[in-house]
Amino acid sequence: MRDDLDEILLNETEIQRRLNELAGEIQRDYAGRDLMLVGVLTGSVMFIADLLRRLPMPLRLDYIGVSSYHGATRSTGELIVTKALKLDVRGRDVLVVDDILDTGLTLAKIREMIQKLGPRSLKFAVFLEKDVPHQDNFQADYVGFHIPNKFVVGYGLDYQERYRNLPYVGTLKPSVYESDRPVL
Ligand code: 5GP
Ligand code: MG
Repeated sequence: MRDDLDEILLNETEIQRRLNELAGEIQRDYAGRDLMLVGVLTGSVMFIADLLRRLPMPLRLDYIGVSSYHGATRSTGELIVTKALKLDVRGRDVLVVDDILDTGLTLAKIREMIQKLGPRSLKFAVFLEKDVPHQDNFQADYVGFHIPNKFVVGYGLDYQERYRNLPYVGTLKPSVYESDRPVL
């Protein structure tokens, strides 16, 4: 798999070091609070697992699954929920955890959905933030790394459902896209 990568943007060591800092901030900010982490499937799995083991405090964990409405273009911003929350967020301090803030459509929509359920507070942690304008000027409260506007894989992020298991982040060689048949 390493052979398919062009440039490594973030290596394992710098990712793990940054996670120590982020977890420290979160632990301080949520001390004594009723923290509930909500991971956004599937890209957040690596990030949330690494965060969790660094948060030695009482917390709950749930997942939400969303997908762009099939057939709709991204610009409509239509999302369907593929996995609903299981736990009650009412009165809880909810921290949504996702892999990457790109257009912001996904997180703006999730914010709208969860806000209606009456959490005590609602914040967002993203592993990566792309250097592009975001929907409704969406801002994450915790950001692992800022990256240029390139398509990246690894550390939970996929290309056609592959490369999520790489412990680092990089871009793919153009030959990978060229050799792939479109998945319908
Ligand atoms: P949004 O555009 O709504 O902010 O991001 C939606 C989703 O698109 C992200 O959660 C992520 O799954 C995917 N995405 C956005 N940018 C990238 C990227 O550079 N690489 C990969 N693999 N997925 C991305
Ligand atoms: Mg995602």
